[in-house]
Amino acid sequence: MSWQRFDNTRIAVVEPVQYLTERLQGFGTTIFTAMSALAVETQSVNLGQGFPDTDGPVAVSQAAIDAIKTGHNQYPPLPGIEPLRTAVAEHRLRFRGQRFDPAGEVLITAGATEALAAALLSLTGPGDEVVTFEPYYDSYAAGIAMSGAQRRVVTLRGRDFAFDPDELEAAFTPNTKLMLLNSPHNPTGKVFSRSEMEVIARVCIDNDVIAVTDEVYEHLVFDDAEHIPLATLPGMAERTITVSSAGKIFSFTGWKIGWACGPAELINAVRTAKQFLTFVSGAPLQPAVAVGLRLGDDFFDGYTAEMQSKRDRLVDGLAAAGFDVIVPQGTYFVTADITPLGETDGIDFCMSLPKRCGVVVVPTQVFYDNPETGRRLVRFAFCKRDEVLDEACRRLQQLSRSAAGAI
Ligand code: PMP
Ligand code: GLN
Repeated sequence: MSWQRFDNTRIAVVEPVQYLTERLQGFGTTIFTAMSALAVETQSVNLGQGFPDTDGPVAVSQAAIDAIKTGHNQYPPLPGIEPLRTAVAEHRLRFRGQRFDPAGEVLITAGATEALAAALLSLTGPGDEVVTFEPYYDSYAAGIAMSGAQRRVVTLRGRDFAFDPDELEAAFTPNTKLMLLNSPHNPTGKVFSRSEMEVIARVCIDNDVIAVTDEVYEHLVFDDAEHIPLATLPGMAERTITVSSAGKIFSFTGWKIGWACGPAELINAVRTAKQFLTFVSGAPLQPAVAVGLRLGDDFFDGYTAEMQSKRDRLVDGLAAAGFDVIVPQGTYFVTADITPLGETDGIDFCMSLPKRCGVVVVPTQVFYDNPETGRRLVRFAFCKRDEVLDEACRRLQQLSRSAAGAI
């Protein structure tokens, strides 16, 4: 493979890509695709791309099988089937206290990715600016670029990945159209606190800006952290599109069923773009996700507890391997600093790791416009079977042993 250096935001093939429009030059191949391919090629343990290695609830997969067998195989309605829109509205009320009318305020999409892309394409364009925090999930930069808007990033800094409210305010200009917020946050695992949400809400309101919130990890929040949808803050419901997805809630990341909820006028705009992206998708999966969203608290609580114990398992294993681990409050991911291992560059480290010990992880610096800030950070996914996590940690612990042996 020719994944070598990269431009300032992502691993990319260095040469310009023939035929590719200017807007997408430099985007290369996503880090997740690159790293999963590397894992297969080198037969490494893959803690790179965030996907579980076990299936989600049988009640949900069985409902999909039943739906295929009972004729749910043609185009569903553009906004998604009514039972799923109702189940999404019920889920948001049950867990977040948010009220949405399934008739016009809920839109079913091809994963959160399509919801985010359709929001960016329908609400922003050339001359507009979109504010987001860095490090950021990779599709944000691409979605903003495809819409023709400009991104402006505010850097999360320090062990708690905090932002400076003054920097956030300074990032907003008269051209700012949209704030794109991800909490729980990929790649850092940060869960934004209520006081941080209050600052973000105030800045959005002061600047009369629309917010799009990516909440795909909303059920992966640990310890005493709390998931607070930005839309639940005063003055925000009327200007926020809340996005989530079945992929991470039910461990069916390949199903790509997501949704966007918000005021009818905003959802109507997003739907206009969505109908020309995929039109519709996942007909037999939609009723199955509706079943999942109505599962009892035992499922949701059990899932969070199971993932928290996996987080703890990986955190302990990485600490034993000598990493400086930042314990995440949410998501599938642990961030660790590689400095104690004598390493200084996350990309060099991640590219050499399969050969050195047969493990694949993701360099955090590819999620920054200013990669220096994240140069020593790497991201490990813990949504894997315990034995896989243990094997990865055993291999990683050899790194410091072989370094000690070399002295
Ligand atoms: N946002 C974030 C922060 C993610 O990590 C992912 C990956 N699941 C997505 C969006 C995309 O979600 P989906 O697979 O539902 O498109
Ligand atoms: N969200 C997943 C991650 O962060 C990757 C999804 C993808 O490969 N696009 O690892």
